[in-house]
Amino acid sequence: MAYRISTKCIHAEGKSPVCDRSGAVSFPIYQSATFAHPALGESTGYDYSRLQNPTREQVEIIVAGLEGGKDAVAFSSGMAAIGAVMELFLPGDGLIVDEDLYGGSVRLFSAISAKNGIEIIPVNLAKENPEQYLTKNTKGIFFETPTNPMMNVIDIQSITTVAKAHGLLTIVDNTFLSPYLQNPIALGADLVIHSGTKYLGGHNDTLAGFVVASTEELGEKIRYISKTVGACLSPMDSWLILRGIKTLALRMEKAQENALKLARWLEERPEVLRVIYPGLPGHPGHEIMKKQSRGFGAMLTFEVADRKLVEQILHKTRLILFAESLGGVETLITYPITQTHAEVPAERLAANGINDRVLRLSVGIEDSLDLLADLEQAFEEA
Ligand SMILES: *Cc1c(COP(=O)(O)O)cnc(C)c1O
Repeated sequence: MAYRISTKCIHAEGKSPVCDRSGAVSFPIYQSATFAHPALGESTGYDYSRLQNPTREQVEIIVAGLEGGKDAVAFSSGMAAIGAVMELFLPGDGLIVDEDLYGGSVRLFSAISAKNGIEIIPVNLAKENPEQYLTKNTKGIFFETPTNPMMNVIDIQSITTVAKAHGLLTIVDNTFLSPYLQNPIALGADLVIHSGTKYLGGHNDTLAGFVVASTEELGEKIRYISKTVGACLSPMDSWLILRGIKTLALRMEKAQENALKLARWLEERPEVLRVIYPGLPGHPGHEIMKKQSRGFGAMLTFEVADRKLVEQILHKTRLILFAESLGGVETLITYPITQTHAEVPAERLAANGINDRVLRLSVGIEDSLDLLADLEQAFEEA
């Protein structure tokens, strides 16, 4: 019997032999670097923890199951996961990337991938068909949806259709919605990336990354890169992510319910020029998300009319913390231009509409009335 998604957050399909033996309800943390062999030429299935560790294996099974992948490989951070995916490409290969991406990905592509001879071609995939940008060297397409921080929505299936027609790999960073709300592999993606630091972990207490593969062959390639380059997830951090995922369904439901309330409140404020939340019916990506996702998530961006208000809000919010990152139980407010997107070139920021009046909220699971009261007092003049 195949489990439904909230059950899959808590139980792996297929029992763990170790938990069966001990009766442990919480999967044990195997804090061991190496594993003894029964005899020459024999292995327990575990040899050395960079290759595999039982606790990491368990979180990989859960994440692969949630995304509908054939395999998932856990890394020490989201960037380590993206860095590993980039090792699939060779000098001379071209990669089309969406124009609005996590700032760390922009830096990886411009500072590391470009040096390694990979040609990065930024395209606004929410508006343009990538087909016109393909050359004979193009090998893949990389994007997030909704995008960070401008919440542009990209039609996953329309991109994977083009990619399949030209033999390209489609790589989707699914961090913003989590597997609870969106599964790109079902829409034709080859690889799905997560910063497990965000919704999967959910408590702002550890870093992690995942690459989920749609085929065993791709999974093997990523596993080979992981064991060779070595940025694997530690047993303790694997356990923290396992524990976080148990409440993923509840957290996502509550956080997106709060996000819609905050978006509606912000829309009514005269100081706010625009609220960008795909759950609002006026958002240009609303209908696409209804088709490809099971919800709209809990990230929202808004632009205030006056730069001075930015400083005031960041100074005055008390419950809402002024911090980078997202996807945790705590509501965080971020100023993309000096934080997550500080290293993105000015013309790219301008083209995406990221200016010094844009703020991003990662809405948590507090009582929405307390969040609204906090925003209300932060908007009031000192
Ligand atoms: C945070 C983030 C990353 C990077 O993940 P780390 O765990 O911080 O290394 C990548 N993509 C997106 C969309 C993110 O939000």
